[in-house]
Amino acid sequence: MKLISFQDGRMPGIGVLDDAEGAVIDLSAAGLSSDMTSFIELGSEGLQRAMETCMDPVAVLDPEDIYLTAPIPTPRRNIFCVGRNYHDHAKEFHESGFDASEKDKVIPDHPMIFTKATTSVIGPGEDLDLSLDPTGTTDYEGELGVIIGPGGRGIAKDEAYNHVYGYTIINDMTARTLQHQHKQWFIGKSLDGYCPMGPCLVTADEIGDVAKLQLTTTVNGEKRQDAVVADLIFDIPTLIETISAGITLLPGDIIATGTPVGVGIGFDPPVFLKSGDTVAVTVSGIGTLETPVI
Ligand code: MG
Repeated sequence: MKLISFQDGRMPGIGVLDDAEGAVIDLSAAGLSSDMTSFIELGSEGLQRAMETCMDPVAVLDPEDIYLTAPIPTPRRNIFCVGRNYHDHAKEFHESGFDASEKDKVIPDHPMIFTKATTSVIGPGEDLDLSLDPTGTTDYEGELGVIIGPGGRGIAKDEAYNHVYGYTIINDMTARTLQHQHKQWFIGKSLDGYCPMGPCLVTADEIGDVAKLQLTTTVNGEKRQDAVVADLIFDIPTLIETISAGITLLPGDIIATGTPVGVGIGFDPPVFLKSGDTVAVTVSGIGTLETPVI
């Protein structure tokens, strides 16, 4: 099921995107939540009710009449992110001069976890405003986002996929100079608008083998990143086990799993985003997250 969050006039809502019919089944109008996190908390019962609503809709919307927001437009807490989680990207970042962390290691021994502020989230097609980065070194990072369903602490690897609700696309936009000069990555990763997310949340049952998903990123139509999720250094079960070891994961938590090789700082000299660019991150089975840069 492809779940979306949207604005219909001034009202927020959630729905199911029916690609074949080019229509949106309104779940909020059917009495289900208008907030994705609350809907995720309903778990399998919520999904069952959504399926029933699709078979007997209360309201069907024309996608032209609504605009999509991020699937989780206001996460209840920061987005968990993973640094250096694809081999070739770890190398390009290490050699770029923008890495202020470990000097002697290309591949980390343990997953590098940081977070992005909730206020950095924007939806598909929303503008990224470069004026918030005074250093002019903003870069894209196309990533697969994991959405947590049932929460928990101490989740073992072999149980991890039972806690995955679904997947989305995240662009972990980064102000590189801020990332470097503050050592901790938080500021450089958390400027308003620096977490484009969407266009939808695809439930895990529809994805099947997540390792087979293909991720590509283009800038103005030019392909920059192209990888399969199977290439992750630390896979999704390892990330869930690591984060949940001592931190309780909550329904609706988001984990951005890391970016593959091909970001702007991998070029010599680095190529940063500029006004007028459009970044598009595509993940097979999910869709395309497009971000115009202003
Ligand atoms: Mg990243």
